[in-house]
This record gives sequence, C-alpha cells and structure tokens, in this order.
Amino acid sequence: MTYQLPELTYDFNALEPHIDAQTMQIHHDKHHGAYVAKLNAVVESNASLQDKDLIELMKSVDSLGLSDADRSTFVNNGGGHLNHSLFWEVMGPEKQVDEELTAKITKIFGSVDSFKEEFSNAATTRFGSGWAWLVESNGELKVYSTANQDSPYLTGDTPIIGLDVWEHAYYLKYQNVRPDYIKAFWNILKLL
Ligand code: MN
Repeated sequence: MTYQLPELTYDFNALEPHIDAQTMQIHHDKHHGAYVAKLNAVVESNASLQDKDLIELMKSVDSLGLSDADRSTFVNNGGGHLNHSLFWEVMGPEKQVDEELTAKITKIFGSVDSFKEEFSNAATTRFGSGWAWLVESNGELKVYSTANQDSPYLTGDTPIIGLDVWEHAYYLKYQNVRPDYIKAFWNILKLL
C-alpha cells in the first residue's frame, strides 16, 4: 500500500486573497508531496507500518517496535500527511457552515467568537513551526497547539480544525506577520 497526495477540491487560486495561489501550489505539491514520499519510504522499510490504518498507527506509535529514527520519520511525515489532508478539507472558497459543530462550539466556548479568540491565541503563541487545533478529546472539544507535524492522534484526540502555522504556509504573502494570516484563515474556513 502506498499513500497518495490527495487532490485539492478547489483551484490553487480559489482561496485568494487570503492565501495566494503560489503558496497553495508549493505547499500542496512540494511540501505535502514530500511528506507523502517520505512516509511511503518509511512504510516500505517497516513491516509493522504496512497494511494498517494510518490513524490507528499514529495512535499506537509507541507499540510498533520502530527504531528512534524511524519513529521520528513516521511521526513527522505520517503526521504531515494527516495534518495537511485535513487542512485542505476544512478550507474552501464557499462557506459550508456545520450547524452541529457551531452549536457544540457555542456550548463549550460560550460563542464562536470566543472560540476563535482562543484558537487564534494558540496559533499565535506556538513558538516556531507547528499547528493550532480544535480537537475532540474524550467527548469534549479542546483547543491547543502542537509542535512540528505532531498529530493530535498521538495523544488519542481527533482533530476537527487544524491551522498550519509553519512559515511555509504564509511567508510569501504575510512574511513575518503570522497574526494577519491567522485572521485571514477565518474567511476561508468553510465550517464556521
Ligand atoms: Mn504545511
């Protein structure tokens, strides 16, 4: 079994002006493409990673008998593949508001705006490369960030919304101003 780079369901320029076409093309084809290629290489050399569900593997990574180097390659690139696959899906040029999710968020965070504030804060304060998340954790919704390509599945949580805050996600358009990119994200997040 080999993993494949998923096709975007919209054009590279569909998220403009919030995310520019060049960033989308490099991010999807080159960055995500490289995670998929390196994931396939580590799967090929480890029988314990073969013919199993990627999410289940991520949840049980410490029981797979991987060497430290292969564990790290798997976490980085398997996480990179899962994280980006979700990221492309939660964004889009047209809003498709998820009423059920909106109701849950309102119940737990007080309002969609207070959720956005908490999420934006997690995204802004993640030092260096990483992701901000809304996850389901033991039936609750939680906001936090992770470093590098660490997936929420590593700690048994299910990601619902992910925002990539690596510089490669925003540097061409926003340079060092990560908060402006985070503000723009709410315009192209389909679900809310
Ligand atoms: Mn990325």
